[in-house]
Amino acid sequence: MIPYYSLQQISNSFQPELSQAIEQVTQSGWYLQGGENKQFEESFADYCGTAYCVGVGNGMDALSLIFMAYQAMGIMQQGDEVIVPSNTCIATIIGILRGGLKPILCEPTLESCNIDATKIEELITSRTKAILPVHLYGRCADMEAISLIAKKHNLRVVEDCAQAHGAIYGGKRVGNWGDAAGFSFYPSKNLGALGDGGAVTTNDKELASLVRTLANYGSSAKYVHDFMGINSRLDEMQAAILSLKLKRLDEDNNLRRQVAKRYLDGINNKLIRLLPIDNWEANVFHIFPIFTPERDRLQAYLTEAGIQTLIHYPIPPHQQKALSDYRALSLPITEQIHREELSLPMSPLLTDSEIESIINAVNRFV
Ligand SMILES: *Cc1c(COP(=O)(O)O)cnc(C)c1O
Repeated sequence: MIPYYSLQQISNSFQPELSQAIEQVTQSGWYLQGGENKQFEESFADYCGTAYCVGVGNGMDALSLIFMAYQAMGIMQQGDEVIVPSNTCIATIIGILRGGLKPILCEPTLESCNIDATKIEELITSRTKAILPVHLYGRCADMEAISLIAKKHNLRVVEDCAQAHGAIYGGKRVGNWGDAAGFSFYPSKNLGALGDGGAVTTNDKELASLVRTLANYGSSAKYVHDFMGINSRLDEMQAAILSLKLKRLDEDNNLRRQVAKRYLDGINNKLIRLLPIDNWEANVFHIFPIFTPERDRLQAYLTEAGIQTLIHYPIPPHQQKALSDYRALSLPITEQIHREELSLPMSPLLTDSEIESIINAVNRFV
């Protein structure tokens, strides 16, 4: 079986340094809010090109904390609106809601699977405070168009970078395009911890400091609490692991690009649609999606052929029971993407012969 993405194989490829880093933190006797966290924050801010990075517990909290901080700053209020693509991972939507704001769903384009910038302005109301583009599948959203709309309407831009660590758009890394950005280090992301982890990047000093406070029970000094915060911190073990893995991120993203190039050159089955790539730097291929109305049959066929695939995602957020307020919405492009999407194995460690077997199997599907 060719696995979709073997986390064990990825971990093994970082040995023996990975085990040494874990041992070092274990021996240090210091497990939260210490030197490893500080060092990772500095390296990751440096990598993204931002002035600040704050390590937090996970990617969803990163987004919630940004909106909580904007409320503490008096820039947003409970119930203000955030325009967000309707075909994202549900954590994006829950992150906004948990942060006290209201997600307004905007359709993506079929060709990019990212928010359709031409449909944003019609959704803006007097309560709109932010646009939240998601760089879905590792592919940069149309940040130039989004930034212009935000500027025109005086809106904040908050990026969801959970799938796009390291992608470069217009000479700038994601995480440094908006006013603030949320990252996830969930184990299977391009930069993944051995557990949960996340970060907020920004150039706004006050925002960074408020996120840090809010993520630590609202405490700015020990035992002094200015805000009703939450507990969402990046632990020392994960920070040490992430510092180690960050050094190989660009190399790994390039290997993902090579896999994607082979898929794009090799797959020529008329039943299958691929997303066109016009900017390779702006794509880190967290996921390699292919599309067909026969998705479920294709997945069963590939499983039979020994190839594991996943679906990102089977049910769109507006059709989830948890978001029943959105049930009445009709979002035909989103619904089509969720009906037709299938994710092929994607890893920097895929071998030439594995890639070839996958291409051949996909091309033989009838
Ligand atoms: C993974 C992911 C998240 C959530 O990250 P967690 O660390 O699991 O909370 C948010 N948005 C997107 C687009 C994701 O892929």
